[in-house]
Amino acid sequence: MSSSLTVLGSCGAWPEPGRACSGFVLEHEGFRVVLDLGYGTLSRLLAHLGSAVGDGVDAVVVTHHHPDHMLDLHGLFRARWFGRRDAAPIPLYAPPRVLAMLKSLEDEDPDDVDRVLAHRPLPAGPYDVGPFVLTSRALPHFVPNAGVRLAADGLCVSYTGDTGPDAALADLGRDADLFVVEASDRHQRRGVPPAATTSLHLSARQAGQAAAAAGARRLLLTHFWPGNDRERSRADAAAVFDGEVMLAEEGLRIALP
Ligand SMILES: [Zn+2]
Repeated sequence: MSSSLTVLGSCGAWPEPGRACSGFVLEHEGFRVVLDLGYGTLSRLLAHLGSAVGDGVDAVVVTHHHPDHMLDLHGLFRARWFGRRDAAPIPLYAPPRVLAMLKSLEDEDPDDVDRVLAHRPLPAGPYDVGPFVLTSRALPHFVPNAGVRLAADGLCVSYTGDTGPDAALADLGRDADLFVVEASDRHQRRGVPPAATTSLHLSARQAGQAAAAAGARRLLLTHFWPGNDRERSRADAAAVFDGEVMLAEEGLRIALP
């Protein structure tokens, strides 16, 4: 059975017209893991599944509780609550504040969330997630963010969520077939040099450096700030990383490994 990563959304912060914020579907041996569900990703996920109620999602991983990474998780909760209330809960691997945020949107009966999603905290583990072993690392961001690594027989995909530069990125993406790395490139909109950007997001050049340090095979840049020049981001990463550099794009399906 073929393995793949499908991009649901490629934008950071808020979606560009016609696009969505962070979200991916990783499929291997018939098992589907959703990675983040930011603004605008849910309808794309349901179309991908061919199910109006989210049938076919085997696990969800959310890196942190910023809404551009998790707000459509509430929509998935609703689809399951109204459409599949008696189904087994879907495992949700996420920092505890993701669950708290979700429950804050269900303030009449927050425990309903637990009937639909079975929470396991990140960073923690390792966890067995279908054919994968999920490991995670705390990475520097404005709020607790877990970088994740999903390794199966003959396949490894790592994803940063949102992060600043950190030595742990090399271990997170070590020898990965695909390293999905945020490239907010805030300097593009601010008109300042890349070095002057925050320590809590990455430039595309820093993303390339992380992929090179990790020895990753391919790099998928994502979390583009709205209005950014994505080809400029690709060139910046390719200047420091010898492997293939890809740009996240809504609907893009990457065959793995
Ligand atoms: Zn964030």
